[in-house]
Amino acid sequence: MTNLRIGHGYDVHRLVEGRKLILGGVEIPWERGLLGHSDADVLTHAVMDALSGAARLGDIGRLFPDTDPAYAGISSLKLLAEVGRLLRERGYGVVNIDATLLAQAPKVGPHRQKMAENMAAALGIGPEQVNIKATTEEGLGFTGVGAGMAAHAVVLLEKTE
Ligand code: MG
Repeated sequence: MTNLRIGHGYDVHRLVEGRKLILGGVEIPWERGLLGHSDADVLTHAVMDALSGAARLGDIGRLFPDTDPAYAGISSLKLLAEVGRLLRERGYGVVNIDATLLAQAPKVGPHRQKMAENMAAALGIGPEQVNIKATTEEGLGFTGVGAGMAAHAVVLLEKTE
C-alpha cells in the first residue's frame, strides 16, 4: 500500500461589515471581513479540511465545533497548528499544500508569500511546501458580487512511520 494520502478541502464564509479580513493569518486592510465563529480565515480553513481529510480525521467542524466557546474569535493558525500536531501524532508528514482563494476583491497577491509562511510555520514545514493562489470568478456568483469568499485546497501527506 502506498504511503501517500491526498486530501481536498473547501470552505466559504460570508463577507460583512465590522469584521477584520484575515486570510492565511494575514490581516488585510479592507472595508469588510469574513463572518464566523473563529477569525473566519477561509483559506486556512480549506487547508485544515484538506489535511484532516487526507489523514482521515474527519473535518474541522468535528475537530473544532463552532458551538465550543473555546474557539470563539480564535486565530485559525492556532487551529492549523493543532491539526499539524494531530498529523505528526499519527505519523504523517506534509509533502505539499496547494490552496486557491476565490475572491473578487481585494487583491491578495502582495500577501501570498506571508500567507504561505504563516501556514508553514504553524505546521512546522517549509514555506516552499505551501503554494497560495487567488482568482476572481469574473464577477459571477457569490464571490463575484462580493457576498463572500471561498477557498479550495489540496494536500499530499506522506506516512513517515
Ligand atoms: Mg470555515
